[in-house]
Amino acid sequence: MSNDLFKIARVGLHYFEEPCISGESGSGTIFFSGCNLRCKFCQNYEISHLNKGIEVDGKTLKKCMLYLQDQGANNINLVTPALYVVPLKGVLEEVKDQLRIPVVWNSSGLDGLVPVLALEDVVDIFLPDFKYSDDNVAWEFSGVKDYSERAFNAIKLMRMRHPKDEFDENGMMKKGVIVRHLVLPGNIENSLGVLDKIAEIDKDMYVSVMSQYFPTKNVKNHPVLGRRVTEREYEKVIDHFFDIGLHNGFSQEPSSAIEDYVPDFDLDALSELINKL
Ligand code: SF4
Repeated sequence: MSNDLFKIARVGLHYFEEPCISGESGSGTIFFSGCNLRCKFCQNYEISHLNKGIEVDGKTLKKCMLYLQDQGANNINLVTPALYVVPLKGVLEEVKDQLRIPVVWNSSGLDGLVPVLALEDVVDIFLPDFKYSDDNVAWEFSGVKDYSERAFNAIKLMRMRHPKDEFDENGMMKKGVIVRHLVLPGNIENSLGVLDKIAEIDKDMYVSVMSQYFPTKNVKNHPVLGRRVTEREYEKVIDHFFDIGLHNGFSQEPSSAIEDYVPDFDLDALSELINKL
């Protein structure tokens, strides 16, 4: 085990992922602090931007994964893990033979090609975001250049390495790719463009089209981001999904756009848990 440290902000079961990821017993999430995007609207701002978290070594991280498995998690869900590709690969290689459940790579979509190749043997399910087809919007809202092409190439490679989606008898995903897209208010063309790009990669790809956006306190007065997505906007995106031949995926009820679904990052509770492992 290497001496690398990982900063994490939450270890626990999470019930609000896609049905084939959460199931009834929950997804075993480990939230990593920091992110390779700087989204103004981020709902996990305190960990992604402010880097809130606790540093743990690889041995502890491994114990966290086994703890989640013992709690009945359907999978080990690594949330915003992209800053830790190389050390995480090492931990996953060591723990993999003790895990009976799949490992999920839950990323911003800004994954390099070399990391995707490095991870293909230790990650069972790629769960990347595909946020932007319009690079101007990506720059304005998330401070990242060339997002569209970089995400497209990463997701295309993920699909090449995991070309077939596999599920168990309970409908839980065991292997494959699900692409997530969060619809943003006033940016429907961007969403339609993302769906076009996903269809270009593979029309059979599972796509999770999310309506859960709500303005956090950082953007509540923003001229575009300061409101929720309207039902009409969301419907337009869903109509386009079917119009272009996508047919596997998940949609959300408008009622998902509430803060209750944002996880609580309680570092005292995390510290207590880590000390017990
Ligand atoms: S990619 Fe996700 S976690 Fe990262 S800053 Fe953007 S919204 Fe937050």
